[in-house]
Amino acid sequence: MQTSSTSPPALDPIRDVIRRVWGYSELRPLQHEAMTAARGGRDTLVVMPTGGGKSLCYQAPALLADRPTVVVSPLIALMKDQVDNLSARGVPAAFLNSSLTVADRRRVADGMLNGEYKLIFVAPERFASGIFWDLLEAGGVGAFAIDEAHCISHWGHDFRSDYRRLDQLRQRYPDASLHAFTATATPRVREDIAAQLHLREPEILVGDFFRPNLKYAAIERAYGFTDVIRAVKNRSRQAGIVYCIRRADVDELAASLQAAGVNAAGYHAGLSDDARTRVQDAFTAAETDVIVATVAFGMGIDRSDIRFVFHAALPKSIEHYQQETGRAGRDGAPADCTLFHHYEDYVCWQSIIEKEGGSDASGQLGMLREMYAFATSLSCRHRKLVTYFGQEWNRTSCDACDVCCGDVASLPDATVLAQKIMSAVYRTGERYGPAYIGEVLVGDATERVQARGHDQIPTFAAMLDYPIREIRAWIDQLADQGLLRREGEYNILKITPAGWRVLRSETDARLMPVKQPKRARKSRSSRRKTPGDVFAPGFGPASLTSRASGPAAPKAPPVPEGPLDIDARNLLERLKSLRREIADELNAPAFVVFSDRTLRAMARTRPTSATQMLEIKGVGPQKWEAFGQRFLDLIQETPTEPRP
Ligand code: ADP
Repeated sequence: MQTSSTSPPALDPIRDVIRRVWGYSELRPLQHEAMTAARGGRDTLVVMPTGGGKSLCYQAPALLADRPTVVVSPLIALMKDQVDNLSARGVPAAFLNSSLTVADRRRVADGMLNGEYKLIFVAPERFASGIFWDLLEAGGVGAFAIDEAHCISHWGHDFRSDYRRLDQLRQRYPDASLHAFTATATPRVREDIAAQLHLREPEILVGDFFRPNLKYAAIERAYGFTDVIRAVKNRSRQAGIVYCIRRADVDELAASLQAAGVNAAGYHAGLSDDARTRVQDAFTAAETDVIVATVAFGMGIDRSDIRFVFHAALPKSIEHYQQETGRAGRDGAPADCTLFHHYEDYVCWQSIIEKEGGSDASGQLGMLREMYAFATSLSCRHRKLVTYFGQEWNRTSCDACDVCCGDVASLPDATVLAQKIMSAVYRTGERYGPAYIGEVLVGDATERVQARGHDQIPTFAAMLDYPIREIRAWIDQLADQGLLRREGEYNILKITPAGWRVLRSETDARLMPVKQPKRARKSRSSRRKTPGDVFAPGFGPASLTSRASGPAAPKAPPVPEGPLDIDARNLLERLKSLRREIADELNAPAFVVFSDRTLRAMARTRPTSATQMLEIKGVGPQKWEAFGQRFLDLIQETPTEPRP
């Protein structure tokens, strides 16, 4: 038998310090790589989802280094906690930000000069002061860790001008290594971070953005916040965050939830610092279950058992969405991320961005478009998020989103509709974009359609009964499913092999219903020759605005006034009780549902379709969407008395 003398394995100083100081026996993915590079003095760019454990990547190497590490972070509110936490573990650390008194600042400065600290946390605005630069030089710095590093990039979703000063770090401290950390960085932002900070051959480490315990879903919102309130009420006593666009929405929704018995609190930048701290602390301490917030809430939230993150409206970008939903389920247990959206959110953000008019407005509008496309898409939501951040996706299904789990309602005639669309693409030679295919399908004999003889092909007017907007949205959905492919600048549509299988009826396609954005469907005549699109080509709702600015639909004939007959009076009573029922559900006065005048018009004209309902004064698309169908059903169910 052979014997071998084996020396004990060399102790890994990184694992050792982590075990001793933090008590962790395992490292999370990429932590060891990040720490090893940092230990070796190599620049790093670490992209890890929220909760991935980025802090440890700079804290552990800092303990092993001779010279201190300066951590730049915009999260002033968290610095004290971080320092307290480290101090409790025996790690000498301090922070410098505007919250300190002059005396405290002097004390920390003295400590830095005496080399007392391993870690010094500073806010980016410190770098505006020449004295601070001098202090760093005098104290010496071994490494800079730049947290939330995407804030340095104009291409990111959270640009901060203070971060731009960090571009001088390299030149002023050529001996110090630089380490950038972020949870959200697309490949373009990543490159920009590396360029702005002048990173030297950085080790770029990108974590896994797939979080299978998060179940993603997107639902088109009905009237007001009723859907959201119902969803939150169903999550009794679970921890959750509900994001809104505006402060007023936060106040309204928080009040409605409280009235519905939910232990909820609102949080937005309009509250005093004290009030915000109180709300955040109560949530962290599990005294509050649900926070209703604007984007101002959440950076650095230290609660791992968040069971749901709902968006009551569309967020501004996929970066925001990913970061906000990333706060759910950090303990690894299942959590729901449901996005309640409506086209009006898109319009709202668009006007906010345009009003702000920043130099990167067009970039922001582009991000907004991507977000809307995400919400209305029929492709795996995890895949979309993961690939958005530049990661490969090799799974066939995520089993953790509404699309992959089959929760997205498909139209019963989806395959036939898809076949019509794809055959229009085929019969026009796979040479045109969505706008043109839409024209052909609705039978719009524009000059260009006639010139190419496409008004003579069998698919011309094959979808005469559908608004072009719906067809455009379905084209996007087919592309999302990989049945159509868009090519080049003009989004020329081509049929993919999977698309051919649908065309040959070998497999089915799925299409989601497309709801009305703002106004009623238009009559056929209003479709012709409307102004061009204002959105980027190929983007789903492109035709919305162009169509909305087109000629108006013909007006409904005026409803004759006068006394109601017996049937109409009977129906009116039933309509009124339905109105009461809905008003109770909404916790709103009855007139908010429909006015008496509108109900009388319904009773008199007895509409039989959505179009006829929408012609009644007081029935807008929003109300139609929210509860119109219930009134229409009631009208159909209410018999008229047989006449002698
Ligand atoms: P991030 O900054 O990436 O959002 P944090 O650094 O705040 O994440 O880490 C999230 C949580 O995970 C913290 O509570 C941290 O202590 C914990 N953590 C980090 N690394 C490990 C590890 N290797 N083992 C166990 N827990 C860890």
